[in-house]
Amino acid sequence: MNQFPDNVTDLGSHPLIADRMARIRNENATTEEFRQGVHDLSQLMAFEVTRDFSTETTAVVTPLESMTTPVLARPSVLVPILRAGLGMLNGFLQVLREARVGHIGLFRNEETLRPESYYQKLPENLGECEVILLDPMLATGHSGAEAAKQIRAAGAQHLRFACLVAAPEGIEHFSAAHPDVPLFAATVDRGLNEVGYIVPGLGDAGDRYFGTL
Ligand code: URA
Repeated sequence: MNQFPDNVTDLGSHPLIADRMARIRNENATTEEFRQGVHDLSQLMAFEVTRDFSTETTAVVTPLESMTTPVLARPSVLVPILRAGLGMLNGFLQVLREARVGHIGLFRNEETLRPESYYQKLPENLGECEVILLDPMLATGHSGAEAAKQIRAAGAQHLRFACLVAAPEGIEHFSAAHPDVPLFAATVDRGLNEVGYIVPGLGDAGDRYFGTL
C-alpha cells in the first residue's frame, strides 16, 4: 500500500533511476559525475512526470497515408527554484525542448526559518500551460509549497512538482498545502536531520551540482 498521499508518485523502484541515484549519493562523485547523474535522473523522470499531460487529436499525413494522432494540447513551462532547481532543467529540456522557462528565487529567513522570495519571472498565459516546478531536494517542503503558491497565484491551472529526493516531512507539508498538485520524487528518504538535511540524502544538491563545496 502506498503510504503517501494520493498526489505522490515515488519513482525509486525503476532500475535506471535507482542506479543513477546511487551514483549521485556517493560522496566521492566528482562535480562532473554528480552533474551528469542529475541530468540523467531528470531526463528519466520527465517521461513519468509528463505521462498524463493533456493531448488533443490532430491530422497528420505520413508518406503513406493520412491519420489522426494525439499531440500535446498545451504548451509546457518549466520552473526551477533557484539555485539547485537549475540542475534539473537540462534533463527536462532534453525531453521538452520547446518548453518556456520561468524562475523563482527563494532564500531562507534565518529568523523565521521560512522561505522569502527574492526573484520571480514567469511566462505569460500560465493558465493555458502544463507547468512543472523543479527542485531537487524536498526537505521541509516550505520552499516547494511557497513556489507552488506563487505559480498558482500567477494563474497556473495545471501544475506538478518534480524533485529528486523527498523527505516524508516535505511530502506531508507540500501535500497538505497543495493536495491537488501531483508530486513526483525519484526517491523518498528516511527523514531530516537536526539541521534540515535529508538523510541519507546526497548532501547539498546546489553546492555539489555547481562545485561550490
Ligand atoms: N537542500 C539540500 O541541498 N540538501 C538537503 O539535504 C536538504 C535541502
